[in-house]
Amino acid sequence: MQGWWRASLVAAVLAGLASCQTMIAPAPRTVALAIEDVTVIDPESRRVLVHRSVYVDGGRIVAVAPARARKDYAARRTVDGGGRYLIPGLLDMHSHLFLPDPGAPTLNLMLANGVTGIREMSGDCWEVAGARSGCIGEFKALQAKIKAGEIPGPDLVSIASPMVMGPASAQVPKGVDSFIVPRTPEEARRLARYLKSRGADLIKTHDSLTLPVFAALGDEAGRLGFETAGHVPFGVAVTALARHNFRSIEHARDLLYDCSRYGAEFRRSAGAFAEGKAAKRPEEGTRLARTVNEFDPDLCRSTLTALAGNGTFYVPTHVTREMDARAADAAYRSDATRKYVPRPRDAEWDRDLDRTAKSSADMARLYQAFFRHGLKITGLAHQAGVPIMAGTDANDTMIVPGFSLHRELRLLAEAGLAPMEILRAATTVPAAYLRREADLGGISPGKEADLLLLGRNPLDDIGNSASIVAVMANGRLYDRRALDALLVEAERLARSARPAP
Ligand SMILES: [Zn+2]
Repeated sequence: MQGWWRASLVAAVLAGLASCQTMIAPAPRTVALAIEDVTVIDPESRRVLVHRSVYVDGGRIVAVAPARARKDYAARRTVDGGGRYLIPGLLDMHSHLFLPDPGAPTLNLMLANGVTGIREMSGDCWEVAGARSGCIGEFKALQAKIKAGEIPGPDLVSIASPMVMGPASAQVPKGVDSFIVPRTPEEARRLARYLKSRGADLIKTHDSLTLPVFAALGDEAGRLGFETAGHVPFGVAVTALARHNFRSIEHARDLLYDCSRYGAEFRRSAGAFAEGKAAKRPEEGTRLARTVNEFDPDLCRSTLTALAGNGTFYVPTHVTREMDARAADAAYRSDATRKYVPRPRDAEWDRDLDRTAKSSADMARLYQAFFRHGLKITGLAHQAGVPIMAGTDANDTMIVPGFSLHRELRLLAEAGLAPMEILRAATTVPAAYLRREADLGGISPGKEADLLLLGRNPLDDIGNSASIVAVMANGRLYDRRALDALLVEAERLARSARPAP
């Protein structure tokens, strides 16, 4: 009896549990969007997950689940991810909207190319010197409209101050307070406080700053809870930057100097120019040739190891060095994406290309060598653990917004980075730089749903980053038709653009 009783009790309890479970099994939660049965490439974990469904609601990822499992979610809209690849939205960590120019062509081009976030590297004007446009209020207003989904575009994830230059390269206009071109540490500290009060996320530095001014600017920025980034001052080795809250080196240039035996001499003589103790900077041809020819692998290794230890980020913008190297190359100049560039800017680009191309054959060879050498140093920097970020200098000569980021990714492949590491340079590493790992840089629950659906696998060939089927940004889905419409509109705006009066 006892055995029977026990067995039936167990059976009853089990039945109870089963019916209980049936009773409490929740109805599938309704979410805004499901991307069904896709291959998820998550650069943050470096994992590839096949046959997953990604559920999105309120602009965030709510779940990444096996596609064929029981469905916990029902979606109002579904996208077929079969045979496709999902990666996080790309970040261009060095770009320029050049407000008050109309932002629209740039914003459209960025979004149509899957760029869902940009670090704006000239996001304020010198209002204190009388500027009334291109000021930070315009950038913030634009950012708010983009975030609210009122206009399509990438999020402005970081907005830099105007470039802070030293007296060797800039003059203070008459009647303007001299601290905007700081000569002393005291002026630099005042300037840092002023720029903080403007609401900039970082102070952009120019190479013409002297060490004492650069140090005071960065130290005060750190005290105020922000930072500097940009061009490395002539007289300052890259390994000394982190001490002064300098967080990212822009452009494939400074790192190359400090990887050569010529570097110390260059820093001394260019530093003397910044301090007003020398009339000229070192001559360009000499600078390029000696930097390449006097490359020192041991010195380079110790420089890069120190840089990695400091946690200084590197944004090589190889596409800008490519412009120097290929200014005379007809195929390069006739790039089809120039049709998206507003006519006045496109004409300016031609003039700049002509100027660069007109230099001697020797200079052209040096530009090419410097460009290739830059790729090599980026490969070494990556191996040494320096965090590399993708950036383009968008809207500078021949840098067509959006398209140029995919070009930069291909150049990072030429530098020797594996496809997953290149994806990280445009997603996970920028998220770490921005200290926004909770929101950006991967595909997992809780992150912002900035996503790219690709037709081909970017891990097979990073060029496939451009095989964009759909983009999700700021809670909105843009399918291929919507993306093409953005491009058509950008082309129309480019064609009708007139020079500023
Ligand atoms: Zn720039």
